[in-house]
Amino acid sequence: MANNRAVTFMGPGKMEVRDAGYPKLADPKGRKIEHAAILKLVTTNICGSDLHIYNGRFEAPAGMLMGHENTGEVVEVGSHVQHIKKGDICSVPFNVACGTCDSCRDRHTDVCLRANEDLGFCGAYGFNLGGWQGGQAEYMLVPWADFQLLRFPDKDEAIEKIRDLTLLSDILPTGYHGCVEANIRTGSTVYIAGAGPVGRCAAASAQLLGASCIIVGDENKARLDLVKNAGYEIVDTSSATPIPDQIESILGKRWVDGAVDCVGLECHGNGPDGSKKNEVESVINTLMEVVKPAGAMGVPGVYTNMDPGAPNSLNKQGKMALDLPKAWVKSPKMTAGQCPVMRYNRELMMAIIWGRMPTLTSMLNTEVISLDDAPKAYETFGAGAANKFVIDPHNMTRLAGKSLRDSAAARPKATAGTR
Ligand code: ZN
Ligand code: ZN
Repeated sequence: MANNRAVTFMGPGKMEVRDAGYPKLADPKGRKIEHAAILKLVTTNICGSDLHIYNGRFEAPAGMLMGHENTGEVVEVGSHVQHIKKGDICSVPFNVACGTCDSCRDRHTDVCLRANEDLGFCGAYGFNLGGWQGGQAEYMLVPWADFQLLRFPDKDEAIEKIRDLTLLSDILPTGYHGCVEANIRTGSTVYIAGAGPVGRCAAASAQLLGASCIIVGDENKARLDLVKNAGYEIVDTSSATPIPDQIESILGKRWVDGAVDCVGLECHGNGPDGSKKNEVESVINTLMEVVKPAGAMGVPGVYTNMDPGAPNSLNKQGKMALDLPKAWVKSPKMTAGQCPVMRYNRELMMAIIWGRMPTLTSMLNTEVISLDDAPKAYETFGAGAANKFVIDPHNMTRLAGKSLRDSAAARPKATAGTR
């Protein structure tokens, strides 16, 4: 029996690489499932959402395997899997979803009614939502494989473009979803809270959707530099100048058409002492202030009532102090919750393959690391590093970017300049 070394949550601040045993075709309750596949991980990313768990701000059991941003090669399929084959390289949406419940039929795979038996809806890998183990590992189980897995059309091309394609499991669809829910379209102006990897993906998504003025706010200078170098506007949330004033100096108006929360519950207050505050409601209140009357807000940032490290008793109850009464006269619209990845991932894959996605890799500042480097990367990322850490457990991506030059002549569809 093969081993399965995996990044394992051992308590707040403690990530260890341990052998979890090779996955079985069985659900979290131990029942055999023939609709599942086993994947050998090609890439598995560390996410800001993982940091909430690492920081003790999203409760999870010790021993849980981390990782919800997974891309892998299929190495085994159950007897009910008809279309996914061994050898396919696939992106795994972070939402676990069955494909047949009412939510899935409504394209709401974020709230599948069968993927989390204890809660009754909403399953995810490596997230204490349904008991599904994460993929920051050598191998992982994917249930409902025919429905869930997004197969890349060409294996060489998948490896060649893996640094962008690896973002399809979560942060690119999540940033895109935030913009869609903020009603961003041709000519829209947008404020994106957070210049972390999701915020940077949201900026690129806003551009793909045709937005005009794209403004990203953060207090982390290195992250803001990446955004600025990619050609977007920035707001320094640690400045003594209030955010609406900074937006006015860029746009000539104090309001934007739509706004996106790419931060979530570990946000700080604004202003020079912002990072010393811990105000769970800070970002949503900012969005309500900067969005135009009847404007829209997308809130894919993570919030939870399972937050033992919440800063005050209100937050510990899963509640927050929103400025909604003040904002009510503006008729705001807000959509919160996880991105239903399958609503967007195929189309975004095609945008990447055909070179229509605004440049991601340089703005994401991707660093590929080994499984053994992962615990250290949690520390570095948690301290505010401006990288996107991508774990390559089997050293399969070393040819990324190289095979294009090697194989372009041999593959007519890889014509130079078209992608
Ligand atoms: Zn993620
Ligand atoms: Zn479902």
